[in-house]
Parts: sequence; C-alpha cells; structure tokens
Amino acid sequence: MRRKFIGGNWKMNKTPDQAKEFVISFVEKIKTIEGNSVDIALFPPFLALNVVKEYSGESRLIVGAQNMHYKDSGAFTGEISPVMLNSVGVNWVILGHSERRHIFRESNELINLKVKAALEHNFHVILCVGETEEERLTSKHYDVIKEQLESDLADIDAKGINNIVVAYEPVWAIGTGKTATPEDAEEMHRYIRRLFEGMYNSDIADKVRIIYGGSVKPANAKSLLVKEDIDGALVGGASLNPQSFFEIVNSVID
Ligand code: PEP
Repeated sequence: MRRKFIGGNWKMNKTPDQAKEFVISFVEKIKTIEGNSVDIALFPPFLALNVVKEYSGESRLIVGAQNMHYKDSGAFTGEISPVMLNSVGVNWVILGHSERRHIFRESNELINLKVKAALEHNFHVILCVGETEEERLTSKHYDVIKEQLESDLADIDAKGINNIVVAYEPVWAIGTGKTATPEDAEEMHRYIRRLFEGMYNSDIADKVRIIYGGSVKPANAKSLLVKEDIDGALVGGASLNPQSFFEIVNSVID
C-alpha cells in the first residue's frame, strides 16, 4: 500500500502574514483527519517557511521548499541552499517544476545536480516531470517523460529513490483549468512505474509514489485519486484557499 500524498505548491503567492492566516485555519481542519493514510504538505515561498513551520506546530503538516540550489553556500546571488533550508527545519523540496524548467530554463543536468544534493542532505524530493501540449499532440510525451526521468535521476541509486516522489504534471494542464482525464493520467503513471522497473526493479516500481498535478480542484480530485497508480496530487491554485485544499485532502479519505 502506497500512502497518498497531497501537496500544495503556493508558487509566488502569500506574504508571511497571509501564510500565517492560512495555516491557523488549515491546521484546525486537518486535526479532524484520523489515521495515517495521507501525507499532507505545503510548499510556501521561502520567506513564509518559518511562519508556516511555526504555526503548523505539532500538526501532521509537512513543510517544504519550492526549489533550492545544489551547493551548500557560495557566490550564487538570490539562491537558497539545502543547508539553509535544513537550518529552519525543512527537508522536503520540489525540484524540476515546469515553471523552473520553462521560465527559468532549468535543464535536466541542473535538476540532476539538485536531486543529488537534496539526497546527500537527506531531503525528500518531489521531482516534477511533464510534457508540453505540442509534445503530447505530436505523440512525443512518453519519450519526453523517459528522458526527463532518466536524466534527472542519473546516478541516483535504489536507496535514494526511497526519498523521491514523482509528480507527473503535464505542462498544458498547469494553471490552465485543463486537466488530464483520469484515464490519460493513469496511463502515464503506469508508464512511469514501468520505467522504474527498468531503471531499478519491480519492488521500487511498486513502492514509488507517483502523484498527478495540473488544475486539480475539489470537483475533479476524487476522479483522479481513485485511479490505482495515482498516489496523490500536487495542487497549485486550489491550495491557496484552506477550504478548497482541505476538500482535496478529504477526497482521498472518504
Ligand atoms: C502546480 O503548480 O504544480 C500545479 C499543478 O498548479 P495548478 O494546480 O494551479 O494547475
């Protein structure tokens, strides 16, 4: 049984005060969730990490960063290192998000350096992969995902994979209101699981959590999350409101 994972990626939204207000409300809501069948995570902007950690207190909320550099320190203006994140109690990070790949031109080579650094520092990584609309329309989507996973995970051994959650996020579905059909998403998740069987072994392929991202909302979450190979969701827009994010979390529980 793979434990479900629901993560909220706030992107460049919320000041520390707004983050505090969200967390106070959200933590009350998730207190009602019994058992341990779902990991719930928030990925606020760097400036709000401290306040989200503080106000999430002893709750079950995992707090992670949206990105990080691969070096511990140095002349990298504007960057944040794994050591800095660890110093505020953060050991989860999103890497390879499509906005990092496409807007900030992050290459697979750079993402691989970041994944290696994260694992060396005992981080858990949400590794995002996804094809563009053009790549899907020209039937290149499987090749693109294969290339991203093989390059981003180059030199990562089976032990390292224990700390990786893969997020399949088709670029055309992120922030657009278009969602992959549950069937299309499930098909890609199965493909990714088969890739892991080849890259590692069948035990790892069975265990690795593969979550879906791309315009997940309370209204469509359940239809995606009931699929056998969809182990959760990475949620952008709908994670900015405590009630809608809670409804998505709840859709894996009832
Ligand atoms: C994301 O940022 O990872 C994402 C899936 O965004 P949205 O839910 O807004 O499409």
